[in-house]
Amino acid sequence: MKQTAKELWFVTGSQHLYGPGPLAQVAQNSQRIAEELDAAQAIPARVVFKPVLTTADEILRLCREANNTDNCVGLVLWMHTFSPAKMWIAGLTALTRPFLHLHTQFHRDLPYATIDMDFMNLNQAAHGDREFGFITARLRLARKVVVGHWQDADTLNEIGTWARAALGWHESQTLKVARFGDNMRNVAVTEGDKVEAQKVFGYTVSGYGIGDLTDRMAQFTDAEVTRLTQEYRDTYTLAQEHDRADSLAVAARIELGLRAFLTEGGFGAFTDTFEDLHGMGQLPGIATQRLMASGFGFGGEGDWKTAALVRIMKVMAEGLPGGTSFMEDYTYHFGSETWQARVLGSHMLEICPTIAADKPSLEVHPLGIGGKADPVRLVFTSPAGPAVVASIVDMGNRFRMIVNDIDVVVPDQPFPKLPVARTVWEAKPSLKIAAAAWIYAGGAHHTGFSQALTMEYMEDFAEIAGIELVRIDENTRLEQLRRELLWSDAAYRIGR
Ligand code: MN
Repeated sequence: MKQTAKELWFVTGSQHLYGPGPLAQVAQNSQRIAEELDAAQAIPARVVFKPVLTTADEILRLCREANNTDNCVGLVLWMHTFSPAKMWIAGLTALTRPFLHLHTQFHRDLPYATIDMDFMNLNQAAHGDREFGFITARLRLARKVVVGHWQDADTLNEIGTWARAALGWHESQTLKVARFGDNMRNVAVTEGDKVEAQKVFGYTVSGYGIGDLTDRMAQFTDAEVTRLTQEYRDTYTLAQEHDRADSLAVAARIELGLRAFLTEGGFGAFTDTFEDLHGMGQLPGIATQRLMASGFGFGGEGDWKTAALVRIMKVMAEGLPGGTSFMEDYTYHFGSETWQARVLGSHMLEICPTIAADKPSLEVHPLGIGGKADPVRLVFTSPAGPAVVASIVDMGNRFRMIVNDIDVVVPDQPFPKLPVARTVWEAKPSLKIAAAAWIYAGGAHHTGFSQALTMEYMEDFAEIAGIELVRIDENTRLEQLRRELLWSDAAYRIGR
C-alpha cells in the first residue's frame, strides 16, 4: 500500500438499461481496474473504487461527497458502457475537485473469434466516453483526457502525471505564504494581485516585519545554535578559510528562527528581500537553501508567486528523482554559433541543494549588495539532464504561466571564482528562440526550476488551475507563438 492518505476516486458511469447482470460485470471490471491503478507505482495516490453510478441523483451525491472529502484530490471518470450525459450535468457542475476522463476499455484486443452483441453492449466505452466527452466540452470544464488500455505503461504514467498536478493543486488550496518585508522596491514582475491569486489558486499571502522573525531567532540558545553549526560542518565540505565561527553562528540562528516561524505558523513557502533586513546580521543564504531542501517554497525579493509555485512544484515532484528549486536566469554564454548558447542560472544565494550534483561546499563570501555581513551559502553545480523552468506572471486580467523545456549540461569549465550555486542549461528549441518567446510572453527572471517535472506536469496543473499556459519547447516557432499570444489576449478580453 502507498504511504499516502491522498485519494483518487475511480468512478464508473453507466445506466439502468443494461439490467443487473451486465451492471454487476461492469462493477467487477471497474473494481479490478481500480485495484490495479491503486497498486501502480506510477500513480502517487491511493485509487479508491466507487460503486457504479446509474442515476443523476447518485452522480450528484458522489460529486458533493468528493468536494467534502479532504483527502480526495481528484476523480478518474470512465464510461464502461453508455451513460446518458444529461445525468452528469448537475454533478459535474457541482464538482470542485479536478477530474481526469479515462478513455479505456476492459479488454485490450478485439476478441475476433468470440465477439458477439452481448460483448459489444458491455464494452462500449468507445461511444459511451464520447457522450460523456460532449457534456464536459459543452460545460467548458477543465479536464485531462487519457486514452489507452489501463494496463499500458503510457496510460498509467499519464494518470500519474495528472495525479501529481492534482496533488499540487490540492496543496495550493491551503498553502500559506509568509513574506518577510515587502517587494523589492520598483520591481514589476514580482508584484501582482494577491486577492485574485487567492481566488484562482487558493493560497494566502501574508506579510510580516523582520522584527517578527528576529524575535523568534532570539529565543534559541547558544547551545542550539552551536549544534546546528556542527551539523553544517558534518554535512558539507568546509574549507578552513570558510570555517568562520561567527558567520556560521549568525546563519544557524537565522535558520532556527525561520524554520520555527514557518513551521509554527503552518507556512509552506516564504519570501524575503535584501532591502528589508533591519536587525538581521546576514541575508538568509544557507537557511533558505536548507529550508527549500526540506520542502518549503521560496521566492527572492518578495516574489510570492514564485515562492508558491516552487512549493507546489515540490509537492508535485515528491518522490521523483531530481530536485526542484527557486531559480533565476542570470547571465548567458552566447558562443560564436547559435547552438552553443547557454544560460547560467543562479541567484544571489538561494538555490536549493536538491539540485546539487555533488556534496555542496559551505562558503562565506561578501554579497556586494544589501550592506550586511558576509552571508553563508552552499555552493554547487547541478547534474546534466532534462528540466523545466516555469514562471507565473499577473497580466492584469489573468495569470499566465510560461514554461520552457531545457537541458541542463555539465559546464565546459569550472567556475573557480563564482561563489554561488549554479546551473548551466540549453534552452529549447534554442536560446535565441526561447528567450525571445519568454520575453514576448512577459515571463519573469525568477522561475521554479525542476529536474523531476516535465512540461506535461505543468500543463496539467495549468489546466486544473484554469490559467493560461505558454509552452516553449522544441517545436516552438516564434511567429506562431506571437500569433498565439495575440489570440490568447483577445480570448481573455472577451472572457471565458
Ligand atoms: Mn532575484
